[in-house]
Amino acid sequence: MRTETVGDGTPELAVVSCLHGDEQCGKSAIESLLAERLTFERPVTFVVANEAAVGANVRFVDEDLNRAFPGDPDGDTYESRLAAELMAELREKQVLDLHSTQSHPDPFALVDGLDEASARLARATGLERLVDIGHVPGGLIGEVDGVAVECGYVGTATAARNAERVLRNFLGVTGALDVTAEESDPDVYRVTDVVEGRDFEFVGQNFQQVPEGTVFAHRADESLRADEPFYPVLMSTGGYDEMVGFKAERVGRLSNVE
Ligand SMILES: [Zn+2]
Repeated sequence: MRTETVGDGTPELAVVSCLHGDEQCGKSAIESLLAERLTFERPVTFVVANEAAVGANVRFVDEDLNRAFPGDPDGDTYESRLAAELMAELREKQVLDLHSTQSHPDPFALVDGLDEASARLARATGLERLVDIGHVPGGLIGEVDGVAVECGYVGTATAARNAERVLRNFLGVTGALDVTAEESDPDVYRVTDVVEGRDFEFVGQNFQQVPEGTVFAHRADESLRADEPFYPVLMSTGGYDEMVGFKAERVGRLSNVE
């Protein structure tokens, strides 16, 4: 884990990149921001989490770090020990956690349960879509006061640009940087189900409603059909080994949900 704290005082804000080592948009956004040597009005800790996985350009070394929280300092896996180290660093902070994805080109925010604190962090991303993934246990944002962002397709320049835009907006809204920034009022989707299964081809579009009776994924021996309408979230053909992704319901604008 690599950390760098800028600004004076004890940081209450942290920006985390590379929980997944092959998702490097957050790391490049942080590096280009810090290269500008800006004056920080509030201190911020920047983290590159899974450096070993970054070096090998893989998602993880022993196990998925984002499924290893809260971790164990004496754990059997590299990621279990790293998760414990990260928790010690992030426990008291508000966290922006930057990812990229196989599922969707446009950036969206994720929170683990909606409350005043998570809603405020979600607005600070400036993004128009928010997924409440509280239905699915695990993940850093389930352990800390935080918002995750999927910035776009893994390895693309667009994801890196989106990460930089979200990062600046977040730091502007939270008062860490004196830059133009705007809070958003995102459309909220709540995850209701996990769609398990290996080797399915996903044939729908994320955030586009799948009507009842429609096939949304298939493989040689099986088709998955919507038994009621839903919105696919983080669904993809190759994104996960053991699942297609998540079903969600659309619950309206954040300002109407709270
Ligand atoms: Zn990720």
